[in-house]
Amino acid sequence: MTMTAEEGAGEGEAPGALPPGSVIGILGGGQLGRMLALAAARLGLRCHIYCPDPESPAFDVAAAQTIAAYDDMAALEEFARSVDVVTYEFENVPVAAAKQLAESAPVRPGPRALAVSQDRLVEKSFMAELGIGTAAFAPVDDRASLDQAIAKTGIPGILKTRRLGYDGKGQAPIRSPDQAGDALESMLGAPAILEALVDFEREISVIGVRTVRGAIAVYDPAENVHRDGILATSAVPASIDAAVAAEARRIATEITNALDYVGAIGVELFVERDGSLLVNEIAPRVHNSGHWTEDACAVSQFENHIRAVAGWPLGPTTRHTDVVMTNLIGLDAEAWRDLAAEPDALVHLYGKREARAGRKMGHVNRLRARA
Ligand code: AMP
Repeated sequence: MTMTAEEGAGEGEAPGALPPGSVIGILGGGQLGRMLALAAARLGLRCHIYCPDPESPAFDVAAAQTIAAYDDMAALEEFARSVDVVTYEFENVPVAAAKQLAESAPVRPGPRALAVSQDRLVEKSFMAELGIGTAAFAPVDDRASLDQAIAKTGIPGILKTRRLGYDGKGQAPIRSPDQAGDALESMLGAPAILEALVDFEREISVIGVRTVRGAIAVYDPAENVHRDGILATSAVPASIDAAVAAEARRIATEITNALDYVGAIGVELFVERDGSLLVNEIAPRVHNSGHWTEDACAVSQFENHIRAVAGWPLGPTTRHTDVVMTNLIGLDAEAWRDLAAEPDALVHLYGKREARAGRKMGHVNRLRARA
């Protein structure tokens, strides 16, 4: 756990903190919204979930719900007027919607964090401005710019849509020049970015949390394994040197300060073979690779996000045990009976009715386990 010097200084009084009974509006009703609402309830705060999907997992545990589209300005306005603060659980909230909401209620994190994280080109350029390393990259809009990009970054590389990609979707590897045409076609005309393929030693992530007053805490780095582009496990502690862990924390701190950020942020990083770090992407929200904090830390990423957006001081991010978080994807959650009977395993299920392939249905935190 890292706390800045300001942490504690004056934070205890928390002027402007929303009192218990206040309503937190959350855009998005998936599992992240569900876990945020559960954490908020523990603090006596109520959540109003806004989501277009009538079967949203978060609706089961929220005080109020709005079922409407994210571009329904009238519904958004009514929602914003009925809550004390607005936050979100996914990064593809239209920036226009966030700006509109901000006229009626504080939106935390602010629209700038959305704008940066929604577009891979803007995100990587932002990192470059801060002097933070990323994979070599270049914009791609057509065949000519793809050829220029290949000349700049080299191959192998990965062509990705600039916007709306998640869990490895909207990505095409280019291993040899003859694959370039097919990769470009698979972008379906969407603006794209070519990234050099990073020959990383491992992948880690850090979850940072920053308060309205600029106090920052960063959880221990997690070591992440992806399968088919989807997070499979997060193990803590990560097998990295203390210096690498400190650098990951420094990067998260710098990013949150530069964005004047409020709330939890996920920063995904590649660890190169020489120990240097490259940012893969940031998520302006609680993050799947931080689910281990629910059972292995004094206060989870969910509660600390709620605390931050409600203007409260942060709770301790101290980790009290080693842990491995495993996502339950598709039919994995059918093993819930066995998982529930496992000693030192904490099962979390999202209440989703249909288990489709690749769908995150729950996760299990195995305490004292090492990857
Ligand atoms: P993303 O959707 O960009 O987070 O990518 C999902 C996963 O694909 C990452 O966690 C990595 O395992 C892999 N990946 C993405 N970009 C790169 C890259 N430039 N080099 C190597 N692996 C990558």
